[in-house]
Amino acid sequence: MIGLGFDIHRLVKGRPLILGGVKIKYPLGLLGHSDGDALLHAICDGILGACGMGDIGDLFPDTDPKFKGIDSAVFIREILAMLSKQKIKVNSIDTIIFAEAPKLGTIKQKIRESVARLLKLSKTKVNIKAKTMEGLGPIGGKKAIASLALVAIKRANKT
Ligand code: MG
Repeated sequence: MIGLGFDIHRLVKGRPLILGGVKIKYPLGLLGHSDGDALLHAICDGILGACGMGDIGDLFPDTDPKFKGIDSAVFIREILAMLSKQKIKVNSIDTIIFAEAPKLGTIKQKIRESVARLLKLSKTKVNIKAKTMEGLGPIGGKKAIASLALVAIKRANKT
């Protein structure tokens, strides 16, 4: 089974930039009720999609003060705990980060390692791609960063 996730957050001053659980040096960061990690949010939605379990907003509403400023790794951990009760595992994921800046070329490997660790997967099962928008639109104008995630899951004893 597979699921698709998407997320986008605004880049603003006074926030840390966190993608895939990795803190990235940049003067702007992603605005959000949580830490604004658009990549982890897309991955959460991809996992939930593959399992037919709704979306991240259903589970962790941004109106709930308990999620304010929360590390998005917590969302991943909670979702994985729900999966394990149903004997479901994430098998592999492919992702795209859409960011005009900062350039993610040298950071992609760190993000890959972080996401693999969070999902308890080997690095070979996690792919991180980075694209610019060729200067087009709000992402191209460095006003936002978005992510897509395609997630494959497997049920226990099945491949
Ligand atoms: Mg989000």
